[in-house]
Amino acid sequence: MNHLKDLIRQVPDFPKPGILFYDITTLLKNPGGLKQVLDGLRDEYVSKPIDVVVGIEARGFFFAPALAYALGAGFVPVRKPGKLCSATVAEEYALEYGTDRLEMHEDAIAAGQNVLIVDDVLATGGTAAAVARLVERVGGRIAGMGFVLELDFLKGRDRLDGRPVHSLLHY
Ligand code: AMP
Repeated sequence: MNHLKDLIRQVPDFPKPGILFYDITTLLKNPGGLKQVLDGLRDEYVSKPIDVVVGIEARGFFFAPALAYALGAGFVPVRKPGKLCSATVAEEYALEYGTDRLEMHEDAIAAGQNVLIVDDVLATGGTAAAVARLVERVGGRIAGMGFVLELDFLKGRDRLDGRPVHSLLHY
């Protein structure tokens, strides 16, 4: 898997000074790279009973629907505020300055369903923790939290309170 790092572009000082941004568009456009990432995540979860794959807006949407298809599961979007048209549940999470909010349709997941949460990057874990709370509030059972890459030094995994995390690549 580590050879896939060659396909991920690292952009210093984006979106602001001091941040090293991991750009997965260079991986997505590579046919072999895209296939290996999706196959890698599928292989991790294919033996687990996943009913629904939850993708986090925006970059989680690049992976979650294709993975849901590969697993024979459904896909549920977690979206930024104001985008969903029916009744929602919402969770706020802290940013460096202020807070942000994510929403999900309250009927998107039925109590007891097995849920896999997917995003591109696990950084501080604030985003993924908020989504995990959303899923659990409606009664979903978190069967996995899958990421293309994890920034180990930010210890995002620790904020996920022992929920099962798997990342294909580690930095
Ligand atoms: P966090 O809540 O800190 O774990 O941030 C996770 C979200 O921010 C993910 O949805 C990522 O897409 C994005 N993100 C955070 N840090 C980076 C980074 N260094 N490079 C690319 N994306 C990032």
